Amino acid sequence: MSKQIFICGCEKDGKIEKESVQKLRSTLEEKNIGYTYIEDMCGTILKNPDDLESLYTAEDAIVFGCQARAMQHLVDNSGKKIEKNVTEYHHVEDENQEEVISQLESNTGEPLKIKYTDSWKPWYPVIDYERCNGCRKCLNFCLFSVYSVEDDGTVVVSASANCKDMCPACARVCPQNAIIFPKHAESPIDGGEGDGTENEKTDILEQIQNEDVYSVLSARRKNFQVSLLKNDQFKMAEEERRACCSGPDKKEEVKEEEKCDCDCNCKEEPESKCDCKDGDSNSSCC
Ligand code: SF4
Ligand code: SF4
Repeated sequence: MSKQIFICGCEKDGKIEKESVQKLRSTLEEKNIGYTYIEDMCGTILKNPDDLESLYTAEDAIVFGCQARAMQHLVDNSGKKIEKNVTEYHHVEDENQEEVISQLESNTGEPLKIKYTDSWKPWYPVIDYERCNGCRKCLNFCLFSVYSVEDDGTVVVSASANCKDMCPACARVCPQNAIIFPKHAESPIDGGEGDGTENEKTDILEQIQNEDVYSVLSARRKNFQVSLLKNDQFKMAEEERRACCSGPDKKEEVKEEEKCDCDCNCKEEPESKCDCKDGDSNSSCC
């Protein structure tokens, strides 16, 4: 049986070069290799998952798009049951692309297209459950209720549309680098593999039981550098989260108990900014 080919064009906010996508499509068309072009897989998976039925049911498929880990977990998190599906994921600019294509059967048909017409830019987190340890840091950090917990304790992305455009803050606080924003520019947030320190055990007692003490101490030194890096990440995440809370037109609301008590014109200012004494009704005090 021939493999089914899918290409994601990432048309909504282009994570991948249009020219590279076009080059791949032309190569396949020259060889008359049939493929399904998905305008934007992130969007289709969320808004019209049924449109991807042929991907879920393919027994042998190859998907070309952005980072392999991002696409794999997008599909795995889609809520669709994928049985007997052996799917390979490749970057559109994969250096082994020629070899992969040379193994495909030609004369397999005309290209098909899966459209994504929604005006919403599909920006949302995807959890890599091979890395997630269920610590709930993302859930506690996110102010927009994007995450929730299932009865069995699994942390899930339950309100994707609440996620703020281009904000990757929760990915920075995840100790396992398990949160992927497929359209983000940085790796491993975009699903890239990272530097390999993501899944290291940090429980020193557990490690000493299994390894010699010198190698454990050397690993601890490396982890210390990683945790300094994580501190910077955490600060960055807090800034990004703050930026999400303060849109340009959003006037900070003054809490009721902070309102000025007097009769002056500055009723909406916090009392700390008002010059008049309590009970004074001087309307030009501020
Ligand atoms: S981020 Fe990746 S999976 Fe999502 S639309 Fe772009 S290429 Fe496709
Ligand atoms: S912060 Fe990361 S490891 Fe912890 S629950 Fe969230 S995704 Fe999982």
